[in-house]
Amino acid sequence: MAKRDYYEILGVAKNATADEIKKAYRKVAIQYHPDKNPGNKEAEEKFKEAAEAYEVLSNQDKRAQYDRFGHSKSGGGFGGGSVNMDDIFSQFGDIFGGGGSPFDSFFGGGGGGGRQRQRKGSNLRIKLKLTLDEIANGVEKKIKVNRLVRAEGVTFKTCPTCQGTGQVRKVVNTMLGQMVSTSACNTCGGAGQIIDKRPPGVDSSGLTTKEEIISVKIPAGVADGMQLSMSGKGNDAPGGGIPGDLLILIEETEDKNLKRDGNNLIYDLHISFIDAALGTQIEVPSVGGKVRIKIEPGTQSGKVLRLKGKGLRDVNGYEIGDQLIYVNVWTPKKLTADEKIKLESLRDSINFQPHPDASEKGFFERMKEFFN
Ligand SMILES: [Zn+2]
Repeated sequence: MAKRDYYEILGVAKNATADEIKKAYRKVAIQYHPDKNPGNKEAEEKFKEAAEAYEVLSNQDKRAQYDRFGHSKSGGGFGGGSVNMDDIFSQFGDIFGGGGSPFDSFFGGGGGGGRQRQRKGSNLRIKLKLTLDEIANGVEKKIKVNRLVRAEGVTFKTCPTCQGTGQVRKVVNTMLGQMVSTSACNTCGGAGQIIDKRPPGVDSSGLTTKEEIISVKIPAGVADGMQLSMSGKGNDAPGGGIPGDLLILIEETEDKNLKRDGNNLIYDLHISFIDAALGTQIEVPSVGGKVRIKIEPGTQSGKVLRLKGKGLRDVNGYEIGDQLIYVNVWTPKKLTADEKIKLESLRDSINFQPHPDASEKGFFERMKEFFN
């Protein structure tokens, strides 16, 4: 099969400038890109053909040689035609600028465009203790962290192993011909850059520990054991790349009054049987400060009072929990002689004989409800 002329493939004149060749290749490459022509063998061939043409015409030496000898006389071996797709994609880095991402977005991602793997720094983990009030309202915390950051005075150079691409190729001869695989470069970890010079005292990672104060916004409603992640606030990557994340593990300090049950808060209230019998008003703690509640005359031990919306806001939504007040009627343990006489006079009163009605559930009834 006769090979087409490289200038013809790209549709440029013999005296085209480097810039014109680049633009022409870009146009052809987009037109025949495999992502745009899935399963189309002809398009794939044209795509490879264009890549080969560009590889030669974009290189001054190869172009001069081609101009003199054409396809046939090699020296450089243009007739080989074993163009590897990964190589083609790696060209997009310089064709489209940056890491090839514009190409990705052009085709809606996927495909092949310069998939330059960025080395990522390690994550930093810290524990953060929060009070119930801080959890209820959300809080902004200033956290001191010791980050590994790039040391001052460190310079970088292009990785000699991968020439800055971050990838290395391995060619294996198989029955089906040459198979080429690419993997992240071990020398630079895929960053494409390695450390050139470093000041004394800085180790080969080029990183140094620096104390930093980081401001963290904690949303309302977080819970013990939750982990928040701040991307890019972890350690810098050795030899370039992107920083890791800061992971914040939430620890809840136990509140002396209020116990948490999901988004509800539970308060154990103890009242005297006089208050239970006569009724009263009483202050109870809540996350917004003290709240005055009414105890109705004839309140039974075990009654649960509900303060709607006085619980915690759900961290993932708008729902707000309640505060539940468990009423415990407290029985006096010590009585004076006078108190004994007064209570003794009430012992046989019909009103003091227990006669619960249907609405006053006993312990077993409440447990049954609880587990249902
Ligand atoms: Zn490398």
